[in-house]
Amino acid sequence: MSLYGDYDVNNIFAKIISGDISCYKIYEDANTLSFLDLFPQSYGHCLVISKKSQARNLLDIEADHLTNLILTTQKIAQVIAKELQPDGIKIAQFNGEAAGQTVFHLHMHIIPRYIASELGVHACKQADADTLRTLQNRLVSAIKLSV
Ligand code: 5GP
Repeated sequence: MSLYGDYDVNNIFAKIISGDISCYKIYEDANTLSFLDLFPQSYGHCLVISKKSQARNLLDIEADHLTNLILTTQKIAQVIAKELQPDGIKIAQFNGEAAGQTVFHLHMHIIPRYIASELGVHACKQADADTLRTLQNRLVSAIKLSV
């Protein structure tokens, strides 16, 4: 899909927002939602999306929704830093298919990096349900303690 075009109301993340598709939710407020990536590139790989904006990418999003999105991204990254103790945290965001974007509802990737382990391939290997559920519970508890 091009960098430009119409928002698809049936994209996967729109269906997660509407509740039509389940996710491993770790945080939600009035404007934003954060959940585990189903095909994580590292342990703790999360996504953050706006629930209010229909921006497909960074070029489209309204300033107030972008502010909420980046503030939630920072908040979740801070919790992940404390809870999972990675050596680094990569924040990534792709615009257009040519840049690697596969879901056309703007999202921020929070990808913890560990010196001892290689970064996984993008959107490639689905994590097992038990691992995701345990991580979800751990991060939900850590987020509750952080507020
Ligand atoms: P993009 O390639 O658009 O930057 O990132 C899309 C991300 O969504 C990928 O990292 C991919 O693993 C993830 N993803 C794709 N389908 C699903 C899904 O159904 N649920 C969740 N939680 N993540 C998904």
